[in-house]
Amino acid sequence: MMDEEHGTLAQSPTDDNIYTLGRMGEHNVVIAHLPSGRMGTTTAAAVAAGMKARFRALQFVLLVGIGGGAPSDEADIRLGDVVVSQPTATHGGVIQYDHGKRTPRGFQRTASLNQPPRLLLTALAKVQANQFSGRGLLSHLLFSTFGANPYFSRGHAGPDQLFLPGYCHVRGATCTACDPSQIVKRAPRYPEASIVAHYGTIASGNQVMRDGVARDLISSELDGVLCFEMEAAGLMNEFPCLVIRGICDYADSHKNKAWQPFAAAVAAAQAKEILAAIPGHEAAAPLAGGQRADRLGLAGLGPMGKEQEHGGFSPVIFSGTNHGGFQMGVNYGTINGI
Ligand SMILES: [Zn+2]
Repeated sequence: MMDEEHGTLAQSPTDDNIYTLGRMGEHNVVIAHLPSGRMGTTTAAAVAAGMKARFRALQFVLLVGIGGGAPSDEADIRLGDVVVSQPTATHGGVIQYDHGKRTPRGFQRTASLNQPPRLLLTALAKVQANQFSGRGLLSHLLFSTFGANPYFSRGHAGPDQLFLPGYCHVRGATCTACDPSQIVKRAPRYPEASIVAHYGTIASGNQVMRDGVARDLISSELDGVLCFEMEAAGLMNEFPCLVIRGICDYADSHKNKAWQPFAAAVAAAQAKEILAAIPGHEAAAPLAGGQRADRLGLAGLGPMGKEQEHGGFSPVIFSGTNHGGFQMGVNYGTINGI
C-alpha cells in the first residue's frame, strides 16, 4: 500500500491506536485501524480522536474501506466498484441514516454532517475529470499496488449476483443454494471487469445493513444513496473527511466475504489516486519561520513531541472497516458478524 514504509512509533500510554507510517506519492501518511471485532460510528470516532490528539498536524483524513452497494436505475453499481462521498445539492456527502427522532408522522432524521474540506473536493474534481477522459490511474494503481498478490485479485472473488430486493438468502456462506431465477438481469459491463468510480451520498449508521428492501427504501428516502457503511458518521463533524468504499456486497441478506479483499484493494487504489491529485506542498503544514515541512522527512522521525511540533505529516489515511472489518491487506476480524 505504501510507496515507502517508515519506522514504527513507541506506543503511547494514552492512545490505544496502532499506526502504520509511510509515504504515498508526495505525502506522508498515517494509517490507523479499528480494533479487531469492533465496529460502528462510535468506535470510529474514538480512533479518530486518538489520532487527532497524537498527530496535531493532520491536514485531512480519508476513510477507506469496504461498503455495501445500493444499485439503482440511476447508479449501475457492481461488486468491485468504488464509491466516494461527494456533497450534493441537498446532502453533505455522508448521511447518518439511523440518527433522528420517532414522531407520530414517522422517523425524522436530524443528523447534519459536515462537508469534506475544499482541498479534498478540488482533488476529487481533478480525479473525476481524469477518469471521465480515460486518463484515470485507478486500474494502474490497483495493479501496481496489489497485482502480485492473488488474494486481492478479482478472480479470487467469485460471481457478482444481485438478487431481487425481496428475495432472502437461503443458507450457507455463498449463494449456491439461492434461486438463480431471482437474480436481477443486468447488461454485461463493457469493457468486462472494468471498475467504475461512483460519486455521491453514502449512508452511515451503527446497524449492519443486510436487507435489500430496507436498503432501497432508505435510499429512496434520501434521494438516492450509493452505499451503506458503519463508520463515517462518527468522523465527519470531528474531522471532515472523504469516505472511500470498495463495494463488496449489496447490503442485503446475500452478503458474504468473497469480494472483500478485492473491494478493499480497489478502495485503497482510489485513495492513492486522490492523494496523487494533491501536490505535496498544498498539504504540507508550515513550519516555524515560514518553511514547509519536509514531506519526505519521516524516515528521520524523532520523538513524538518533535514531530507534532513540526507538523511533519500531511494527509492521513484513516483506514476503517466497513460495515465491518477488513482493510488494506490485514484482516481485522469478522465483518458484520457473518
Ligand atoms: Zn444468497
